[in-house]
Amino acid sequence: MSMALYRTYRPATLDEVVGQEHVTGPLRRALTNDRVHHAYLFSGPRGCGKTSTARIMARSLNCEQGPTPDPCGVCQSCTDLAANGPGSLDVIELDAASHGGVDDTRDLRERAMFAPASSRYKIYIIDEAHMVSSAGFNALLKLVEEPPEHVRFIFATTEAEKVLPTIRSRTHNYTFRLLPVKLLQQHLATVCEAEGIPAEHAALALIARAGAGSVRDSLSVLGQVISGSGPEGITYAEAVLQLGMTDATLLDETVDALAVHDGAALFIVIDRVMEAGHEPRRFVTDLLERLRDLIVLQNVPGAVETGLIDAPDDQVAREIEQARLFGAAELARAAEVVSEALSALKGATAPRLHLELMVARLLLPAADANERGFLARLDQLERRMATGEFQQLVAVQSPAQAAEQSGEPGPSSRPRKLSEVAPSTGKAPAVSETPAVDEPVASAPVTAAAASGVGLTELKSMWPAVLDAVKSYSRVAWVLFSVSAPLSLVNGVLAVGLDNANKINNARASGHDERLRQAILDVLQLDVKIDVVLAPDVASTVTSTGAERTSPPVADTPSMDDENMDDSSGVDLALRALGATQIGEIEH
Ligand SMILES: [Zn+2]
Repeated sequence: MSMALYRTYRPATLDEVVGQEHVTGPLRRALTNDRVHHAYLFSGPRGCGKTSTARIMARSLNCEQGPTPDPCGVCQSCTDLAANGPGSLDVIELDAASHGGVDDTRDLRERAMFAPASSRYKIYIIDEAHMVSSAGFNALLKLVEEPPEHVRFIFATTEAEKVLPTIRSRTHNYTFRLLPVKLLQQHLATVCEAEGIPAEHAALALIARAGAGSVRDSLSVLGQVISGSGPEGITYAEAVLQLGMTDATLLDETVDALAVHDGAALFIVIDRVMEAGHEPRRFVTDLLERLRDLIVLQNVPGAVETGLIDAPDDQVAREIEQARLFGAAELARAAEVVSEALSALKGATAPRLHLELMVARLLLPAADANERGFLARLDQLERRMATGEFQQLVAVQSPAQAAEQSGEPGPSSRPRKLSEVAPSTGKAPAVSETPAVDEPVASAPVTAAAASGVGLTELKSMWPAVLDAVKSYSRVAWVLFSVSAPLSLVNGVLAVGLDNANKINNARASGHDERLRQAILDVLQLDVKIDVVLAPDVASTVTSTGAERTSPPVADTPSMDDENMDDSSGVDLALRALGATQIGEIEH
């Protein structure tokens, strides 16, 4: 390729400027109606078409058939001002960064008085307009306010807020925008077609994203990828490689490990990210993008069809599987943690440490004392319950991924099998029960506890979560049921054991049994009738359920100054919570 793509495909007419219709539309009408203002200010991010549009304006104004929004393209002025033409004496481009001083502008002022050499207008395009000094602009002020009939000004800047107010107020202001990925992607596809280069849809989306909304940047990335690609054109894999994006396998492993809470696997992924020389911020950004995809897949039924997800088909298939492995709150929380890690990584001197801290936080939703952490914990409990009573944590893989693993045993990119990963504490039995990963294992359909399938076993394993929910209704009820257990479920009547009679009376009299019923309904979508019964040995039942207590109520008994306890005297509290019996009152 002899010339940079962005120069080859520089727009020649207003209609060819991509994605700035809010600017090109009004300019077009001004040209059509011959009502072009004598000074414009174009502002916006770099690479969005400000300078190109300024040149097109100059070409449109000076066309022999003009002023016209559609320059003829054949007259002297048009050929001189063509995208790759020699330029015209009457269109003067200045960079204010180097020509913004008072001497330069005085010089400009004097020259502007002379009539144009051969065209209708003398047009000054002043780039980096925010660099014009105020002394410099004072010299220009009169000229910009009331220019001779043959002079037009177009100022362009990336930093509109730094432009002198005197310039802003004397010009018509237009703001250029960054382009959405979809639009950039279409533009890149057009360019590839014109160049005769086959390109995968998903690869172009990747390139467009790398261009961060700028046409010029996207085209130069495209140029780079094209020059490095073979006869098969631009493939997704090639683009990932050339752009230094994180290998999708690494992201898959991260997400899969996160789903089964495999801490060891997560830390090993981090190790590989660092060892392979990946840029940590890149990895975290890509992980955040992946979590975003999963959140979208969970919430938007036709996300793939509507183009909200840009990825090759096999990756989309994997992402759909992964989205099923998480609860909504878990994903939202994970994205939050990863996003915070991304900000923390900015200028961090020990990026590896930050990555590892991020993993630690991802693994420990309980560390977040806020609602999001609580909901994430609940998601996990539900999920683990649905996958079979905490007994087996299946390494869930899509068939596509498994096939890929057995298909290409590359040395560095070979995904690590779960069985190779040192089991994390407390997960040993789970890992040993994991089927060999080489046999594709269809993921168990994970659903929220369906009302029909909920029985006593589920109630027992979810009891801590139920108690947490009770707490949100009443701390007193929560304390009362802190030593309790579901004993039997017959005909919709749930027998709940309490360890002394006072508590039973209290539960019935104060409506705490109703709060428990509501909590069970909230957590398990199961409506039962509560029957509190005496079960003196219930304390031992509680510890034998095997359910992991997320926050043992006993370790967090309410203090007397708790706002919810205001209506309870110390005696009441002792009666209710501890099952004390009042035997008399001592006179003071
Ligand atoms: Zn012309």
